[in-house]
Amino acid sequence: AAKDGGRNTIRDYDPAMLVEAQARLLLLQDLRKAVDAGEFTLFLQPQTGADGTLVAAEALIRWQHPQRGFVAPGAFIAEAEESGLILPIGDWVLMEACHVLRRLADAGSDCHLSVNISPRQFRQPNFCAGVIAALRATRTDPRRLTLEITEGIAVGDCADTAAKMSELAALGISFSLDDFGTGFSSLSYLKRLPVREIKIDRSFVQDVDSNSHNAVLVETMLSIASRLGLKVVAEGVETAAERDFLEDRGCAVFQGYYFDRPMPVEDFITKYMKNPEILKMEEPAHA
Ligand code: C2E
Ligand code: MG
Ligand code: MG
Ligand code: MG
Repeated sequence: AAKDGGRNTIRDYDPAMLVEAQARLLLLQDLRKAVDAGEFTLFLQPQTGADGTLVAAEALIRWQHPQRGFVAPGAFIAEAEESGLILPIGDWVLMEACHVLRRLADAGSDCHLSVNISPRQFRQPNFCAGVIAALRATRTDPRRLTLEITEGIAVGDCADTAAKMSELAALGISFSLDDFGTGFSSLSYLKRLPVREIKIDRSFVQDVDSNSHNAVLVETMLSIASRLGLKVVAEGVETAAERDFLEDRGCAVFQGYYFDRPMPVEDFITKYMKNPEILKMEEPAHA
């Protein structure tokens, strides 16, 4: 409406928009500084069997803002994606995750690690090279690494997406379809792309034992996964009743507050590794 036949446009002025724009600008400035100052850290959340036995962990980024404290990714990943800052952030996450995997392997653990990959990061022409470089630099077995992707990655050039995934899958890297069921094309992705695992989105897991709508959807997802030979992780499991419902229907791996919250790497090592003392002496070389 701004150029509506030369009419005065002041009447369309919305102060809330200006406030929002200023807040975004501030966030962007802070985010730039954070990339340079290295204000990010990875938290790990365990993925376990129904009895709590560790199988894997998901790496979840946290921003340690000098004034605001820990900032959750929901408050900055979208802005990082839009501004392109997700590229240096994503590189850092991958390298840091590979360092964590090296430390876990050195402890004799066969714990796998899942890393969230943003669409923009994945679409970089040198994405595969970056992943391979991080694995090499840390002497990490690619079979320990899972990349969590969402439907957003294949917007645009689907052939390119499939080619990249195949290249990395051939090295032993697994792909997991995150937030499964929330998008519009989850099923066609399973057909077209080399996905090894689905993560049932938290919104379906919530109250699955008492919400009949969620129950039907989750049962269907488990059935599809089983028939296609896909692994399943149920995300956001908060109660024993949810776990029991899922376990009874064949779900084998669980992630959620009922089991444990995301925690600093050091806490994860102390809690889940058999020999944490050995590990604590080894700090990541680039820290
Ligand atoms: P996601 O990949 O679906 O990760 C799961 C989110 O659910 C995490 O939120 C986790 O803390 C939360 N969660 C796990 N169990 C429970 C539960 O029982 N109840 C509830 N209410 N929540 C639970 P978080 O850490 O805030 O991350 C949010 C999103 O930010 C992630 O969703 C992911 O999309 C994105 N993200 C996180 N780390 C990274 C990263 O390193 N790179 C990129 N590109 N995105 C990331
Ligand atoms: Mg994830
Ligand atoms: Mg998820
Ligand atoms: Mg999610």
